[in-house]
Amino acid sequence: MTDGVRLVMLGRQGAGKGTQAVRLAQHFVVPHISTGDMLRAAVSAGTEFGLKAKTVMDAGGLVSDEIMVGIVDERLNESDTTTRGYILDGFPRTEAQGIALAEITTSRPLQLVVNLEVPEDIVLDRITKRRVCESCGTIYSVDSPPKNGWICDVDGGNVVQRDDDEEGAVRKRLDLYAEETLPLVPYYREQGLLVEVDGLGSPDEVFARLLAAVESRLGG
Ligand code: AMP
Repeated sequence: MTDGVRLVMLGRQGAGKGTQAVRLAQHFVVPHISTGDMLRAAVSAGTEFGLKAKTVMDAGGLVSDEIMVGIVDERLNESDTTTRGYILDGFPRTEAQGIALAEITTSRPLQLVVNLEVPEDIVLDRITKRRVCESCGTIYSVDSPPKNGWICDVDGGNVVQRDDDEEGAVRKRLDLYAEETLPLVPYYREQGLLVEVDGLGSPDEVFARLLAAVESRLGG
């Protein structure tokens, strides 16, 4: 089996970060940890926490650092991640989360942070066209829909637009990304952990570019 990896993916919403994170996780045989997916699971489960998180998410806001750090700390201490590593997607999203992550990972530090770069005007178009299977999370687009109406090709679930993918919420999230998350790029560059990857092109093209960049950094 290949060696695992401890890697963070940064990139604005709609940069293809989730899709590429899943592929990297399959390649390195490590869990894909998406804080957005974890929050959506809490929303679906209808827990009190899930209901609170839904209000914040639908408005395009950020769930508090304290809560997010707690969730990630717990997940990174499970045995699959401590033995093989992880692809972390959607966290950290603020500098405070980045600092907390460094503390959480002191004994097994991050190896790499990938910044998947796609300009803001392009991601705005991509996200407002994005559609997602309610049950399995497979991603489609108005430009490449499922084969039979808005029914998922994978598991037959309903394919819908996420509430937080409506244009107003998307603009708010992109502004928040610029203010809160973008400072993590120089933060990780200064630590020598950052790899910048151009996110334009087909998912296969981007994955080939991404994997080459990651492997050359891990090998070197
Ligand atoms: P995502 O699927 O990564 O776009 O996440 C969906 C939503 O979940 C975000 O718009 C935030 O409201 C919330 N969220 C996910 N990860 C975080 C995080 N690390 N910090 C704060 N909020 C988060």
